[in-house]
Amino acid sequence: MASLKQKIRQIIEENGHISVEKYMKLCLYDPTHGYYSCKQPIGLMGDFTTSPEISQLFGELVGLWLAQVWLAQGSKKPFALVELGPGKGTLMSDILRATSNVPNFLQSASIFLVETSTHLRRVQKNRLKDFEITWLESVELLPPIPLMIIGNEFLDALPTKQFCKVNGAWQERCVKLNKSGNFTFCYTPSSRDHELQLTHGDVPNRKIIEISDQATDIISKLSSKLLSNGGVAIFIDYGHFGAVGDTLQSVRNHKFSDPLRNLGKSDLTTLVNFKAISETAVSRGLRATKPLSQGAFLKGLGIDIRLNRLTKNLSEDKKYIHVSARNRLVDEDQMGELFKVFALALKDAPCLPVLEDF
Ligand code: SAH
Repeated sequence: MASLKQKIRQIIEENGHISVEKYMKLCLYDPTHGYYSCKQPIGLMGDFTTSPEISQLFGELVGLWLAQVWLAQGSKKPFALVELGPGKGTLMSDILRATSNVPNFLQSASIFLVETSTHLRRVQKNRLKDFEITWLESVELLPPIPLMIIGNEFLDALPTKQFCKVNGAWQERCVKLNKSGNFTFCYTPSSRDHELQLTHGDVPNRKIIEISDQATDIISKLSSKLLSNGGVAIFIDYGHFGAVGDTLQSVRNHKFSDPLRNLGKSDLTTLVNFKAISETAVSRGLRATKPLSQGAFLKGLGIDIRLNRLTKNLSEDKKYIHVSARNRLVDEDQMGELFKVFALALKDAPCLPVLEDF
């Protein structure tokens, strides 16, 4: 069976090059060799660690935030509790535990996990075996009822196109073969030159911009569903607000690696452009909050009170483990500042806790 490298090499030989977006798609989702199809990427034994894997405090607080919004929006029944890209199922498991005492919340909820990886679906099924859960391949399949949606490090996993202006004309960043037969980046004329001149005319020559059509598509579909049925969507991810520059990165065994090597064996991501996401949702008629740092969000939700309660009767050693996990989530030089939280809701929905408490 051909390896992923051979498969991509063949596509390049036939077409001369492959776009960065298509390259990312194959590396992440190829059914036989793609990163999410074959690997269990998250946690100490994987390539990267996410907030829910660092501390239960994260999922518990996010769960209580969702329940608070549900109460403020009139305790709609039935509603869908939805996670996009649930990884190992840890976040949903913590959300379900933390909200089990909120009257009628779980009794009114149907749980949906949107996950493309069959491998990770198995891990999630095992983790959440005590709950009735429906797995979906895409957000289009979500039911027409109010939606309480969470996505942690979901948007950054979606493939992105990269463009660069060369001598005044927009070109798309692609991957080709160099003289030695290895992968290398190149630029090819883009059919989107006219559109990009209008939307990004002020970006200087040779600066890369990133556009995730897949993220735009998913946010558009979610926005239509939210507009028709009500609810909220909260996203937590690392990103920027419309900055330019190449943010494609590859991570393997908790270290950065070359994005053109270890195909299907390392995680490929780009920073999320929160500005593009907000503009998509707002253009569809929703309200988008400003991105708030993860540190400020978790402090606003009372992470320290919850930490004290959790560690009250623990030995100093055990307490230390929870305190350092809390610091990792909240401290500015760790995940507290780089990671941002933002949410989408109906224009006339009540103020969203912490994100819109001014
Ligand atoms: N939210 C988890 C995992 C983040 S990794 C955590 O915080 O630990 C990204 C997750 O998104 C993985 O579960 C991956 O399989 C899933 N994923 C990636 N692209 C997807 C897509 N297009 N639709 C649904 N799930 C996707």
